[in-house]
Amino acid sequence: MGGRFSTKGYATGPGRAGRFKQVYRDDVQLYPDTPHDAGAAPAGVMVCAGCHAVYERKHWHFNEADFARLHQAPETLTIERCPGCQRIADRDFRGELTLVGVPALDPLDPRHQRLVATEVQARETNPIARLAEINGSPGRWQVSTTTAALAVRMGTELQKAFGGQLTIDKPPRTDLARVQWTARESHVR
Ligand SMILES: [Zn+2]
Repeated sequence: MGGRFSTKGYATGPGRAGRFKQVYRDDVQLYPDTPHDAGAAPAGVMVCAGCHAVYERKHWHFNEADFARLHQAPETLTIERCPGCQRIADRDFRGELTLVGVPALDPLDPRHQRLVATEVQARETNPIARLAEINGSPGRWQVSTTTAALAVRMGTELQKAFGGQLTIDKPPRTDLARVQWTARESHVR
């Protein structure tokens, strides 16, 4: 037997996921944004100079007080990039969220604030879940995230807060998602 219909698993191929950059890495198990497995994690204490993430007891987390305390401690290793910052530096983006019908990009816009708040919540659970970029023009904002789950979560949060329409394209068994949220009424002036 064997071949395409072997009982070992599904036939693999580009399929719908072929539109995305295919990424197969050990950290794929991080989808959805659940706490990562500490089994293979290194021991020791680290802090990230980039985002102030703290690595202690085999987990990354965010806490400014912990950062301030550990940053001074002699046994702490200061690194330039935690895994989340590394994905941003590598432009290793797994989620794309498009907002349609929005005004010009403005950090004070409630939709913008909701995106940032969602990142802060998500990275509490999975520090690799980060908002990497927001680019915008009147009518359309483009958001890149370092996990698929974060893009999905942001879209869901926008719809919860502001209504509108949500479409989620998330090929199964990948950590990749394309999400679009369309405002209930256009805010473009
Ligand atoms: Zn970092």
